[in-house]
Amino acid sequence: MPLTGIEIFKLLPKTNCGECGVPTCLAFAMNLASGKAELTACPYVSEEASAKLAEASAPPILPVTIGTGDRALKVGGETVMFRHEKRFENPPGLAILISDTIESAEVDARLERCKNLQYERVGLTLRPELVAIKNDSGDAQKFEALVSKVAQGSDCGIILMSDNPDNLEAALKACAEQKPLIYAATSDNVDRLASLAKESSCPVAVKASGLEELVELTTKLTDAGIKNIVIDSGSRTLRKAFEEQVNIRSTALIKKFRPLGFPTIVFPCEMTDDPMKEAVIASIFIAKYAGIIVLSDFQGESLFPLLVERMNVYTDPQRPLATTEGIYEINNPDENSPVLITSNFSLTYFIVSGEIENSKVPTWLLVKDTEGLSVMTSWAAGKFSADIIGPFVKKSGISDKIKHHKLVIPGYIAAESGGLEEELPDWEILVGPREGAHIPAYIKAWKP
Ligand code: SF4
Repeated sequence: MPLTGIEIFKLLPKTNCGECGVPTCLAFAMNLASGKAELTACPYVSEEASAKLAEASAPPILPVTIGTGDRALKVGGETVMFRHEKRFENPPGLAILISDTIESAEVDARLERCKNLQYERVGLTLRPELVAIKNDSGDAQKFEALVSKVAQGSDCGIILMSDNPDNLEAALKACAEQKPLIYAATSDNVDRLASLAKESSCPVAVKASGLEELVELTTKLTDAGIKNIVIDSGSRTLRKAFEEQVNIRSTALIKKFRPLGFPTIVFPCEMTDDPMKEAVIASIFIAKYAGIIVLSDFQGESLFPLLVERMNVYTDPQRPLATTEGIYEINNPDENSPVLITSNFSLTYFIVSGEIENSKVPTWLLVKDTEGLSVMTSWAAGKFSADIIGPFVKKSGISDKIKHHKLVIPGYIAAESGGLEEELPDWEILVGPREGAHIPAYIKAWKP
């Protein structure tokens, strides 16, 4: 049973030093009890207390890692029902299904799509992470051959899917080092798959028909010392599966019911034959509350919106995406190139830098740290005004890189031009366009 806030408090140092980010040990204890803090935030907990608190401080949805190295995927570890309460921690993995009954050329094509469908957005690379290999043929050799091919030809994490424990065991030998997810332990084979998961140190999924059976299976596995568990409630209709996702999350989080405190796996690929409906169903499970989402295929037109949705849902709502402050060289600028300045809200930066890049005009772009706020918002908040921009331009070192002293400010902060002329008396302040889309025409006409 998890400890209460008061029980946790008794084990803390009670010095109220505040280093954990809250002013008192009691407040920290309450946050720990509600899953809103992590024990590592307090540097002064004794080893003995730490051991006692480990259970209480573990996130209500335990984290599970699939794969190894740079491409390892961590799912679960969630502590809240709604992202505005704190943030969602680990984005769900997107998996492409590859059956051992499909033609070799189609297997190659799917692996290619898995590798090539990746996108740059606000400085991040968005891509899917998993291949779910399914033993539809029932043939151990075919399954093993496909698993070997995927293990050698893809850097994605692997989900091994078979009803036959013997086939799973054989296939596992071909990719055990990649720590695949073994799918799935059921009431019929749970003991066998528990041994397999333990011997190979691989995560294991359980599949049940309903939550009661799910609880029995996860209890058996945890009693056997296995904690890397992913759960499949077995439903293959949107309504039932959705209800169960919400039920599992709230039971684990609010009622602190450990047997359901694991990331889930859902199968939109088994809920419809229509690719667009499948994408819509997947989008619902990104928001609520899947750990892994298995799709029948990846196509750019459906994968890209899912990746963007996932990025948006799993960014921290209290911290805007920000770009590092500094001087950015775009299209190889020289001493006669224009100098523009903007805020460090990532979306602003990527729009402005993208427009400059596309214009092919060599340009210096100064990015001021405005705590991730856009031009207008930071200006309104007093974080992008003349008395802040002036000292930044002086310290940035841009003067050493150019012959002219002309600074182009965003049109939205035209009101700062007078103040900037006072802050930067040897500079000429030019008011640039309000909209990013008008930047190319402006800098093409610019003269030093
Ligand atoms: Fe208490 Fe530890 Fe937080 Fe200090 S860092 S206030 S000792 S819980």
